[in-house]
Amino acid sequence: MITHSEAVRLLEGNLIDVGKKADEIRRKKHGINSYYVLNRQINYSNICISRCKFCAFARSPGEKGEYFLSNREIINIIAQRETDEVHIVGGLHPDLLFCHYTDMIKAVRSNFPDIWIKAFTAAEIDHFSTISGLQVEEVLSDLKTAGLNSLTGGGAEIFSDRIRQRLFPKKADADKWLFIHKSAHKIGLRSSATMLFGHIETDDEIVHHLFELRKLQAETNGFNAFVALPFHPGSSFLDLPPVSAVRILKVIALSRIILSNFPHIKAYWVMLTPKLAEIAQFFGADDLDGTIGKELITHSAGTESPSSMSEEKLRKLITGAGFAPIRRTGNYLKAVL
Ligand code: SF4
Repeated sequence: MITHSEAVRLLEGNLIDVGKKADEIRRKKHGINSYYVLNRQINYSNICISRCKFCAFARSPGEKGEYFLSNREIINIIAQRETDEVHIVGGLHPDLLFCHYTDMIKAVRSNFPDIWIKAFTAAEIDHFSTISGLQVEEVLSDLKTAGLNSLTGGGAEIFSDRIRQRLFPKKADADKWLFIHKSAHKIGLRSSATMLFGHIETDDEIVHHLFELRKLQAETNGFNAFVALPFHPGSSFLDLPPVSAVRILKVIALSRIILSNFPHIKAYWVMLTPKLAEIAQFFGADDLDGTIGKELITHSAGTESPSSMSEEKLRKLITGAGFAPIRRTGNYLKAVL
């Protein structure tokens, strides 16, 4: 098992060295298989009271550009085409009641009984607990009863109180994020984990974040996948250069090595660009996310990626790199075609 200082050295070292180690683990776990899903990403509202400094998506209540999708509009979006998984997240809305969110999940479940519903970040779960006065465990249990299958990995950002104070002081801290995922796993909800990097973090903080996730996975085995998210400066409040391709590939490779107890490492093409996601398959990634539909969060920050991708194009990103495309369900089972 790699140590913290060995991991920092790998991150500081040569891209090919870290890549080779990650590729070895990836091929042992998945051979040449690379996974993708027919999914819809739905951002139900950008109205948010947190206003994290790295976020170009959120708007304050009443601000120009704010929007809100009703549950009916959400259903209509999902109905537009074949979908195996929905990914639903939004801002921390000041006025909605918790029952709005349970109704949202119930509406999706009753209209699409077989769909995998992945919804809400730990930051939203924490917010629901605050607005409802319910314990986190009760919030999760109510959402599960409504039809939720898994939590998204968002809201983790980076597990560093130093950075939290500077960039997202109003959001749930690392302990809360880990507690929410642990509580979700306990009642049988699955989840993903993320890490936002390429802003003001140190190598040490990246390694710390990955080891914290490894520790929780060893305890619960509830994570399906990890996603490294490179920061996009766009129209956020931070004036920083974009993360280099080499740095992105190194972080993905390092995550594959440290998170050897995670089944899947995702190359999220929306944030990476399709070309870099294609290459990331040689650096530990075995999952290219999905067809998406219409992504708004990263596009608010000015990513060059398209907002949607056809299944055919997604499969080409996989076969073009010499891997075998496997259409999966939301729970990473092979989709029945
Ligand atoms: S990252 Fe999430 S919580 Fe933070 S401002 Fe954006 S929408 Fe709100």
